[in-house]
Amino acid sequence: MAATKTVRRVWALDAPTLTVDCGILMLGTGGALETIPAPTFLIEHDEGLMVFDAGLATVGAGDPAAAYGEMASAFQIDFPEEYRLDRQIEAVGYTTRDVRRVVLSHMHFDHTGGLDLFPHAQGFIGAGELRYAKTPSKLDEAFFREDDIAAAQKIAWNEVPAGYDHDLFGDGSVVLLSLHGHTPGTLGLKLRLPDESTLILTSDAAHTRANVDLTIGMPFDVDRLDKNSALQKLKLLGTQPGTTVWISHDPQDWAELRAGGAEITSAATLRPAEPDSVPA
Ligand SMILES: [Zn+2]
Repeated sequence: MAATKTVRRVWALDAPTLTVDCGILMLGTGGALETIPAPTFLIEHDEGLMVFDAGLATVGAGDPAAAYGEMASAFQIDFPEEYRLDRQIEAVGYTTRDVRRVVLSHMHFDHTGGLDLFPHAQGFIGAGELRYAKTPSKLDEAFFREDDIAAAQKIAWNEVPAGYDHDLFGDGSVVLLSLHGHTPGTLGLKLRLPDESTLILTSDAAHTRANVDLTIGMPFDVDRLDKNSALQKLKLLGTQPGTTVWISHDPQDWAELRAGGAEITSAATLRPAEPDSVPA
């Protein structure tokens, strides 16, 4: 077995936000608005740079309706020009060409917008996810963006079977977690940080901390039983020593864990952000 290694650095890049009724985030709730981030995580490893998810489309920066039409106001998308994914990557000293691998949690539009920046990359996605994006159920067809599906066709994807966790480099540093249920191929990510602590990025296997604590999904999950299994898996992973579970869309986690966008290298750097980086 290969020696266990770690990633070098992780950045939670500045994220556009969506404002939605909380009933979209958890069954049995509703009536209050919640502003949630749509993050992209940039991960530096000895074998090169990778992104986990691709946020919103560059063409929508500063003008969300240009990319999302009526969805821009329906989701109250807030996407400042400077939050463009390519600019964020440049801000930490790289270019989009340096991104060798794209791991996509699933094909919903708030995760796929920047796929057109990485046609050169090797892709990793849950099995069945691309096919489902082209023929989704009526329930959630509004969550897929045609331009992003077209951009995805230019990436060489490796499909991760449901129920299988994939150790990306065979060294324990980056493990793709099968968390299907929200969509047919939803993936999360398990990262080993340089201090040997573990960081779990849930993607949309959970939207809020309460989803995990109570094992309750959200209205647009394609398979409720699979989703509950994914939530239980996250809860179990969170009991392991030295493990932080980061619920990607959760505004509290975003405020508390992203270190104000600074590089994350240890559990100690997962700390409260400065007040001005909390989504408005
Ligand atoms: Zn999402």
